[in-house]
Amino acid sequence: MTEKMDFSLLKTLTNLAGVSGRESAVRACLQERLTPYADEIRTDVLGNLIVYKKGTSDKNLLLCAHMDEVGLMVRYVDDNGFLYFVTVGGIDPRTLLAQRVRVQTKNGPILGVIGTKPAHITTEADRAKAVPLSDLYIDTGLPAGQVHQFVEPGDSVVLDRQYEEFGDGRICAKALDDRAGAFVLAELVRTIKNPFYNIYAVFTVQEEVGLRGATTAAFGIDADLGFALDATGAADIPGCAPQNHIMRVGGGVGVSVIDGRTITPDWLFEGLKQICRQEKINWQVRCAPRGGNDAGVIHLSKTGIPACALSLAARNIHSCVEVSAKSDIEAMFQLVSHVAKNGITK
Ligand SMILES: [Zn+2]
Repeated sequence: MTEKMDFSLLKTLTNLAGVSGRESAVRACLQERLTPYADEIRTDVLGNLIVYKKGTSDKNLLLCAHMDEVGLMVRYVDDNGFLYFVTVGGIDPRTLLAQRVRVQTKNGPILGVIGTKPAHITTEADRAKAVPLSDLYIDTGLPAGQVHQFVEPGDSVVLDRQYEEFGDGRICAKALDDRAGAFVLAELVRTIKNPFYNIYAVFTVQEEVGLRGATTAAFGIDADLGFALDATGAADIPGCAPQNHIMRVGGGVGVSVIDGRTITPDWLFEGLKQICRQEKINWQVRCAPRGGNDAGVIHLSKTGIPACALSLAARNIHSCVEVSAKSDIEAMFQLVSHVAKNGITK
């Protein structure tokens, strides 16, 4: 039986700001939490946090979960103090209207709202079409002079939404993609004793903009096996046919067989399914026509590393209301803990 997970850490992690390339708050939190449990802990050039735990064999296991989240970056401050921005990672502008945000300035976060013209001054034709990103702006409520004093182009911006548990064991939060994976990995480092593998738990940077952190991390580690622990879009919602669901919230940990970047080796896929059946871990197949995660670059590193993504189903992914099931997070934790502890053979 695996240990109980401390979900207060997930709450802390999802509430932190960590847009791609600006992950320092998330890294500091994980570093402080995991230092007592690590045999070695370091940060590499790109900013990946690498936590090493010695195992009982000479085999190395690379586990990646990304610290970064999709977000925004200020590109221009106008004369009236309104902020214009670019997106960082795949955000649908339709999800941004009327949202609260936190602008991460050098003097600390400033609250803002993404403005939108009210129905009173728009036409029916206006309302029928999506507002282009170029028309969206952030209002901080501050006088223009103060905005110019505090906010600079290049400041990152996160969606402002607090972690909530609701419904039947569900979580709603921003950045479940992929603080949930980082949470599972952190809990593995905290709880595992005498693992089979030497564990390299890598909290990666810049996944959302092209798997960049995992690229250099995987190169720097001589891994025998690799996993990405990451969220994936669940389409088990109205308007999506069952054959297009890919993954279901509450359906268990996703064992990925294919996505846009990786095909899991058959022995690894079969071995993982067998463990799930044997250990009574709730699981589902992730068979995704598109998308990718850190496994995409892990398996192509050096002369090749067998790799698989273990996936968490998240509805409304890349929005501030991502929804996942606590039971799926626990199932991911059980599976990865079992593999790290006991090994998996070809
Ligand atoms: Zn992700």
